[in-house]
This record gives sequence, structure tokens and C-alpha cells, in this order.
Amino acid sequence: MAQNWTSDIKVILAAGAELDAAYQTQLSEIGIPVHIGTITEIHHSDGKVYAVTLDEGERVDVGTLLWTPPEKPSPLVENLVDNLGLELNEDGHVEANEMQQTNVERLWAAGDVQGWTGAIESANAGGMAAFFMAHGWYGEPRED
Ligand SMILES: Cc1cc2nc3c(=O)[nH]c(=O)nc-3n(C[C@H](O)[C@H](O)[C@H](O)COP(=O)(O)OP(=O)(O)OC[C@H]3O[C@@H](n4cnc5c(N)ncnc54)[C@H](O)[C@@H]3O)c2cc1C
Repeated sequence: MAQNWTSDIKVILAAGAELDAAYQTQLSEIGIPVHIGTITEIHHSDGKVYAVTLDEGERVDVGTLLWTPPEKPSPLVENLVDNLGLELNEDGHVEANEMQQTNVERLWAAGDVQGWTGAIESANAGGMAAFFMAHGWYGEPRED
């Protein structure tokens, strides 16, 4: 995605994080350097980032930063975990079966609470949840 914006891309990988060897080879084939270290300082001027310093002292010039921040359950989800025993998976996302039903009776989950899905998949999961809710209320459709 970033290649649509610039040909000058750098990967900064936190020390200890693993990068698949095949992926590393792919990056070097397309000329993307990998810098290992944790960012300890962001250098900026007039609201514009121009460099970062890593924990070992290396300074990397950058024009902007793109990163994935750590996620945690929303206060609403935490509340449901504490009060209803809602089950989360190891990534902290709500567990639901193929009918979007959680472990809590009459509680369905769809969308980003299940992990990053994107708008279309979230809408689809919400539609499926609505379908199975209605199915549960009205039962099998009549055949006559
Ligand atoms: C910057 C950005 C760009 C994105 N770009 C794309 C893209 O290009 N294409 C794509 O497919 N997806 C994109 N996404 C992801 C997409 O927006 C989400 O996957 C999708 O919106 C998830 O839908 P959702 O219904 O699960 O959650 P949301 O759309 O977040 O809806 C949850 C709703 O619940 C409300 N809410 C929260 N807590 C409570 C509460 N306690 N009581 C009542 N209401 C509450 C919130 O206000 C919100 O309206 C992007 C997301 C972001 C943040």
C-alpha cells in the first residue's frame, strides 16, 4: 500500500520482533531496508516528522510514519467480559461462532470487535448476526 505513495520506504522493526526470512528477502529485492530497534525519539519540526532515533542510537531519516498501535478491548467489551463472562480470544477480540453468536446467550458479535475486518466484512457479519437473531426468534420458515 505504501508503495502507492512513495518509492522511499523503510521498515523499522522493534528489537525482538520476528520477520519471516522469505519476507526479509522480498523486501531487500525491492530495495526496502530494515532497521532493527525500538523508536525512542521522534524528531519533528512545525508538526512534521523528519527522523527517528532507535534505542541503539541509530538515527533514521523519515518523512512520515505508518504504524499499527497495540489494540485493547473497548470499555463496552471490557464491561461485558466483567459482568456477563463474555469470552475473548488470545488477541483480545470477541469470540463468536459461524452464526455470530458469542458464548453469552442472546449476545451476538460482528465487525471490528472480532478483529480488524474492514467495512464490507463487518456489514456482512452484522447482516448474518441479524439473520440468525431473527431465525432464533421465529424458528424455521414455514414451508406452506
Ligand atoms: C482511519 C480508518 C480508515 C479505514 N479505511 C477503511 C477502508 O478503506 N476500507 C474498509 O473496508 N475499512 C476501512 N476501515 C475499517 C472500517 O471502518 C471498520 O472495519 C468498520 O467500520 C467496522 O465496523 P463496525 O460496525 O464493526 O464498527 P464501527 O464502524 O466502529 O461502529 C461501531 C459503532 O459503535 C459505537 N459505539 C461504541 N461504543 C458504544 C457504546 N458503548 N454505546 C453505543 N454505541 C457505541 C461507535 O460510536 C460506532 O458508531 C478504516 C478504519 C479506520 C479507523
